[in-house]
Amino acid sequence: MTDGIRLVMLGRQGAGKGTQAVRLAQHFVVPHISTGDMLRAAVATGTEFGLKAKSVMDGGGLVSDEIMVGIVDERLNADDTTSRGYILDGFPRTEAQALALEKITADRPLDIVLNLEVPEDVVLERITKRRVCKTCGHIYSVDAPPKNGWLCDIDGGEVVQREDDTVEAVRKRLDLYAAETLPLVAFYGDRGLLREVDGLGTPEAVFARLLEAVSTHQQV
Ligand code: ADP
Repeated sequence: MTDGIRLVMLGRQGAGKGTQAVRLAQHFVVPHISTGDMLRAAVATGTEFGLKAKSVMDGGGLVSDEIMVGIVDERLNADDTTSRGYILDGFPRTEAQALALEKITADRPLDIVLNLEVPEDVVLERITKRRVCKTCGHIYSVDAPPKNGWLCDIDGGEVVQREDDTVEAVRKRLDLYAAETLPLVAFYGDRGLLREVDGLGTPEAVFARLLEAVSTHQQV
């Protein structure tokens, strides 16, 4: 088996971060930890917390740092992640979250942070075309739909548009990304952890670039 890895994926909404994070997790045989998926799972349970999170998410806002840090802290202390590592997707999204992550990972520091670069005009189009499986979260697009109607190729679940993928919510998420998350590129650059990867091209080409970035980083 390959060695594990502790990797953070940064990138604008719609940059293909989620799809590539799943591939990286399979490649390195580590869990894919997506805070967006964890929040959507909480929403699906219909708890009071889930309902609050849903209204924040549907409006394109950010769930509070305190809540997110608590969720991630718990997940990164589970056995599977402490033994082999993880691909962290959707966290950190603010400087406060990045500072909290440094504390959480003090004993087992991050190996690398990958920033998937895709220009804003391209991601707006990609997100509005995005469709997801309601049950397993697999991502499709209007341009690359499932084989059989709008039913997931993997588990037959219904493939729909996410409720926060409206033009207004996406604009708000992109503005918040620029204000809150983009500064993390410099934050991790200063720590010598960052690798920039061009996110344009086929998913296969982008994945090859991501693996290349990891292997050249590890040789340094
Ligand atoms: P996207 O990257 O396309 O916006 P995600 O699935 O990563 O989608 O996240 C969906 C929503 O979940 C976000 O818009 C936000 O409301 C919430 N969320 C996810 N991760 C975080 C986080 N680390 N901090 C705050 N809110 C988060």
